[in-house]
Amino acid sequence: MAQAVKNRKFAAMEQSLFVYNTLTRRKEQFVPINPPFVGMYVCGPTVYSNAHLGNARTYISFDLVFRYLTHLGYKVRYVRNITDAGHLEGDAGDEGEDKIEKKAKLAHLEPMEIAQKYTLDFHDVMQALNILPPSIEPRATGHIIEQIELVKLILQNGFAYEVNGTIYFDVEKYNKTQDYGILSRRNLEELINNTRDLGGQDEKRGKLDFALWIKAKPEHLMKWPSPWGLGFPGWHLECSAMSEKYLGKHFDIHGGGIDLVPTHHTNEIAQGVAACHINPAKYWIHTNMLTMNGQKMSKSLGNSILPYELFTGHNSILSKGYSPMTLRFFILQAHYRSTLDISNDAMEASEKGFKRLMNSFSLLDDLTASATGEADIAPLQQRCYDAMNDDFNSPVLIAELFEASRIINSVHDGKLKIDQSNLDLLKQLMQTFMLDILGLKNEEAANNDLPNVMNMIVGLRSEAKANRDYATSDRIRDGLQKIGFQLKDSKEGTTWNKI
Ligand code: AMP
Ligand code: ZN
Repeated sequence: MAQAVKNRKFAAMEQSLFVYNTLTRRKEQFVPINPPFVGMYVCGPTVYSNAHLGNARTYISFDLVFRYLTHLGYKVRYVRNITDAGHLEGDAGDEGEDKIEKKAKLAHLEPMEIAQKYTLDFHDVMQALNILPPSIEPRATGHIIEQIELVKLILQNGFAYEVNGTIYFDVEKYNKTQDYGILSRRNLEELINNTRDLGGQDEKRGKLDFALWIKAKPEHLMKWPSPWGLGFPGWHLECSAMSEKYLGKHFDIHGGGIDLVPTHHTNEIAQGVAACHINPAKYWIHTNMLTMNGQKMSKSLGNSILPYELFTGHNSILSKGYSPMTLRFFILQAHYRSTLDISNDAMEASEKGFKRLMNSFSLLDDLTASATGEADIAPLQQRCYDAMNDDFNSPVLIAELFEASRIINSVHDGKLKIDQSNLDLLKQLMQTFMLDILGLKNEEAANNDLPNVMNMIVGLRSEAKANRDYATSDRIRDGLQKIGFQLKDSKEGTTWNKI
């Protein structure tokens, strides 16, 4: 029954979702290549430092896309990689030192220790923000063979050349038959004029040529044997190899931050066309930047705020800490294609708004239906779908949810009557759009579960004691102690507190 309903919803909604495609610069109807399957690749983090709030914005935005497509009934394979080698320091990502190796050398650690540390940190942040894990999370270093094969193919097809063990993509040659600037809408001349002179220019035939495979200097740590000697892959090539392996030569959605358009994604398209004769993705979706005082938040500009700084308030721009769901709500209050500026005032306003919405949500279970009612929820539900179908317009959706919240409060205060079927629809609407699609959750409710859980455990321990099973009762006490809870036994019973 549930499945049938889901399929019907999918059929009804399929016709109406529009997404903005950077490739065509317009909103297009979303028609998957092979429905009901949808393949989505989003460039993952380079794990050499903690993810900042700007990175979080991009991954929350694609979480919204993933959640909504799944809600519509699509079977989404969401691939989000981990870049654990090959991302060099230069603007284009293929000049200078490897970001992870540089950090490893400074800390006297293995590069893989750095990658592991920041991968774990990234996962913690994703979990705190209620971002669903992708279906596949491939690591670049786990796909060296696929990358070498891809380089071979591009060489064979005549779009790359070797100089001293490094393989470069020949942009000028490619641009003779293809449009290299198709995504950025820049012609080759403009792009050449905008490129700074960087190292390796003497090896390259053209200023825009980029490395597919890079010969490793003797001191380089992460290197692999290849037909061209010891080396390592270029950052752009990694994403091409991993997306092709898991989603095929041509898949539905490729995403990332808008800063990836001029180089990383431009080069991914060129690689895809050069190797497989097709632009890898049908829809290119890009998130706009999180800014602070109007400037892009970035590690290299030194203006990044880390999630834990926001959660604890340990940052000079903040007057206090804000919860993970407040951050998620703040981010979703802006459309993903608009810039969004973070400030203490903006966070405070979001905190108030989010609390208001959650308060109404928690009143839902107490509402009682009348035999007849004035509230009509169906048009509101349609407007919620309309908002999401209009290029995932979460701020408009949130405005509609505030309308739902107003209805809930009025019914609660006895100022508005609602019948049973409209009350059921209202509950379903809040559950679907607030929890399932926007991915918000009631943090207070989650925290309120703790006393119940603790009391249950303490009760089990008392039972064990009553049965003279002291081994179990001690195990429970010691186990709780280890995770930070202290039990105190007295004549009146057992109490607990957090250490
Ligand atoms: P990186 O780890 O630097 O490769 O970045 C991971 C993702 O975060 C990329 O998709 C970037 O485009 C995105 N990103 C970086 N800075 C920001 C920002 N200030 N706002 C939104 N997204 C960002
Ligand atoms: Zn990528």
